[in-house]
Amino acid sequence: MKLFDFLRSPAHEDSSKLDRRKFIGYGCACCFSAGGFITKAQAQIPEVQKHLTAARIAAGTDLLPYLKLAEVADRSLRDPNSLTPQQMMALPAPPPGKAFDNLYFVGSKWVSCWAITTSEGIILIDAMDNDDEAENIIDKGMRELGLDPTQIKMIVVTHGHGDHYGGLGYLKRRYGPSIHFSEIDWKMMSTQLEFDRPYWGRAPQRDMTKDLALQHGDVIRLGDTKIEVMLTPGHTLGTISLLFDVRQGRQTLRAFLWGGTAFNFGMRPERMSRIQSYIDATDKARRIALEQNIEVFISNHNGYDEAVEKLAKIRTQMPTEKNPFVIGAQATHRALTVMHECATATQIAWKSTKT
Ligand SMILES: [Zn+2]
Repeated sequence: MKLFDFLRSPAHEDSSKLDRRKFIGYGCACCFSAGGFITKAQAQIPEVQKHLTAARIAAGTDLLPYLKLAEVADRSLRDPNSLTPQQMMALPAPPPGKAFDNLYFVGSKWVSCWAITTSEGIILIDAMDNDDEAENIIDKGMRELGLDPTQIKMIVVTHGHGDHYGGLGYLKRRYGPSIHFSEIDWKMMSTQLEFDRPYWGRAPQRDMTKDLALQHGDVIRLGDTKIEVMLTPGHTLGTISLLFDVRQGRQTLRAFLWGGTAFNFGMRPERMSRIQSYIDATDKARRIALEQNIEVFISNHNGYDEAVEKLAKIRTQMPTEKNPFVIGAQATHRALTVMHECATATQIAWKSTKT
């Protein structure tokens, strides 16, 4: 059985019955560059290659991780040595770190959790895979950084896949924060999960008294901090990306956290509309990047923004040196262009499929 047939089969709904080794054999589709099965001939269509060339040019030498998305349209670009999500999860957690005065990283090599400090408590963005990671990476990492996890007042989750919500159970039990997803992904999680894995925590149930169902354009506020919500569908139908300010010293910069990068919907029947919404979202976002001078572009996966490597650099460089998270609005625009062009190339290749 092929991966996507397997994921759509009723058996995967009850993940507790499944053998974990089976999943490792199939690899993880969520948040990974898994895509439709494009042939070599389709990949070589001039129009496909034209968009992949545009992606390569936009990536330059500084944004190469985003070019992983090109592997979907042209499988010959796939790196045979890249680690699977499971292999990355098994690596020792990197040290937690401070990216800005009000933005901290607590995550693994695979998936990130960001903590935004405010005048009235802490907002977490995402909750990693499961309770174990929530306790030993998020909670422990925050304490190591001098942050008090009892101050976690809310958790905003970028989309309804378990590598972002899996640790909510632990955090809710310990600290009782409100939990916010897009309305679309709340609905997806309460009806039919797109993906599930035995090593993910269970999908949360919405507490109607305090958990928000976010819409495009909503603003989340806590104390002196506001986060603007942008619906950026594609990765899931309700993926949200977040715009907020980060501070270093007296400087305030605009930051953008992208909520879902990979094309994880390769063989789904609605793949064309999904990738079209991704193409539209990245186009809109790159224009906003220039309009709002968004100099900081981060991800919920280290494989794209290289947050772990940037934090390691901050630890060894002089305080007067430039913060590597500040890439500039042009680079933010280029990163979104890589995503946009890879998605366009993929769509063209898919359209050429006689199915
Ligand atoms: Zn995902």
